[in-house]
Amino acid sequence: MSRPSVLLIYTGGTIGMMADARSGALSAMDLEHLEEQVPELARMGIALETVAFERPIDSSDMSPADWVRIARLIAERYERYDGFVVLHGSDTMAYTASALSFLLEGLAKPVILTGSQLPLGTIRTDGKENLLTAIEIAAAKQADGRPMVPEVAIYFEYRLYRGNRTVKVHAERFEAFRSPNWPVLAEAGVHIRYDRAAIGPVRGGPLKLHTTLDDRVGVLWLFPGIQAGWVRATLGAPGLRGVVLATFGSGNGPTDAAFLEALREARERRIVLVNTTQCVGGRVEQGRYQTSRAFVDMGVVSAEDMTVEAAVTKLMFLFGQGLGPEGVAAHFGEPLCGELAPM
Ligand code: ASP
Repeated sequence: MSRPSVLLIYTGGTIGMMADARSGALSAMDLEHLEEQVPELARMGIALETVAFERPIDSSDMSPADWVRIARLIAERYERYDGFVVLHGSDTMAYTASALSFLLEGLAKPVILTGSQLPLGTIRTDGKENLLTAIEIAAAKQADGRPMVPEVAIYFEYRLYRGNRTVKVHAERFEAFRSPNWPVLAEAGVHIRYDRAAIGPVRGGPLKLHTTLDDRVGVLWLFPGIQAGWVRATLGAPGLRGVVLATFGSGNGPTDAAFLEALREARERRIVLVNTTQCVGGRVEQGRYQTSRAFVDMGVVSAEDMTVEAAVTKLMFLFGQGLGPEGVAAHFGEPLCGELAPM
């Protein structure tokens, strides 16, 4: 039997950084050093090939154009590999994973994002285990030869999560991610134990690459005391098409007339407003409390149990499909690739 093949895509992030000998500041190293740091890569029994961003970046610098670039790298090489591993900074990894899940329609092979909190070259690095296990998962097959994880996922600190359900929850701990509204797809201990019921395929059909994202969207985080004037100014940004509201609890917000009027004006200008919760877990239920009644009346769309990361990238994706505001609003609540579970 031939060895499984995996393509490693190196985009940057802490995992591939090296400390400057004098200042100690972290900056990206090149791919050759990556293989030097992890000699185990050669002993995995997996045909590993690598491709890197010509200039590896901190994930805080990732843009929608970079998401499309990663999706294209995968789609153009899709038939040649059994799976894909994307090395990526952890800071915005959940956004990239969400975006990739929308851009790679019909994905039926593993795309596993991983990174680390400490660079590979450091003694206590978490990067080595993350990298080696992510590759193993990307190569894993079921008994009938089909890929074990045919979806975009994040592997970090012994757990595999659905990419578009994941949030970064810790800036320091090795266990930096969680997917509060979806079960962990696999746990790596002595064995890698997969939860087959939780794993995709999440969208059938042949692979179809999408390359257009519309970034004229925003996120508005509510807080007690939020001023209508500030909301109006924010929603008045030129060209704005859609906004993810990060609301309280099960989708609630202030009932202050001026605040609601600022939202209503945006709706009159056909800006799509989407309701996500600031809570890490649980779902939006508009209309359950009086404090979300006005959202229903003005046509705010519920993001159900989606993460903010998935909601904002889904807005970019749907507008990128050429849909108008009414079309985006009508389709937003339909699950595309496991990013939401309607009530
Ligand atoms: N700032 C880094 C990044 O997101 C942190 C990390 O890699 O974990 O690129």
